[in-house]
Amino acid sequence: MSSLRDRFDVAVIGAGPAGSMAAKYAAKSGARTLLLEEHPAVGWPVECAGLLGLGAIAESELPGSSFVLRRMKGAAIYSPGGNRLDFKALDSRASVVDRRLFDRALACEALQEGVEMRLCSPVRRIRREGEESILSIG
Ligand SMILES: Cc1cc2nc3c(=O)[nH]c(=O)nc-3n(C[C@H](O)[C@H](O)[C@H](O)COP(=O)(O)OP(=O)(O)OC[C@H]3O[C@@H](n4cnc5c(N)ncnc54)[C@H](O)[C@@H]3O)c2cc1C
Repeated sequence: MSSLRDRFDVAVIGAGPAGSMAAKYAAKSGARTLLLEEHPAVGWPVECAGLLGLGAIAESELPGSSFVLRRMKGAAIYSPGGNRLDFKALDSRASVVDRRLFDRALACEALQEGVEMRLCSPVRRIRREGEESILSIG
């Protein structure tokens, strides 16, 4: 059986938004790309309130918007001392997204570019050997 070293040019650790975008662009550039995620599913557990600026959503290059829960025109910020500061805009500047769906949509885009993904694959150690990086997984 061929080793991962022979089969892939690039390994991306973590299938969060940054990892999926990096893997997508590596694959688009012609690199055989492996995306390693420690959890059994992408986008879970959610560790984010989900507030994203519209610019960030546009940069994600996702075709649909099924992950958008609500558009925001303002916010109220409460200080620990109980003071309240309101922001209001005429237009929507940000959205609340479902991070589970958002992360999964980004990972799907990477897969469509030919990225191979492995779940339940925590990278424990990276060791340099000359020009190569050797990953310890699991
Ligand atoms: C409580 C909270 C609320 C937040 N609210 C917001 C918000 O409202 N708006 C906003 O824009 N940002 C928010 N953030 C920040 C936002 O979640 C992060 O900026 C964003 O998730 C970073 O994306 P990422 O792809 O770099 O990393 P992550 O989303 O953290 O993804 C990293 C991925 O790598 C995997 N991973 C990590 N180590 C390994 C390993 N060794 N091997 C394999 N897989 C690994 C993880 O399981 C994860 O899937 C919030 C963060 C927290 C904690």
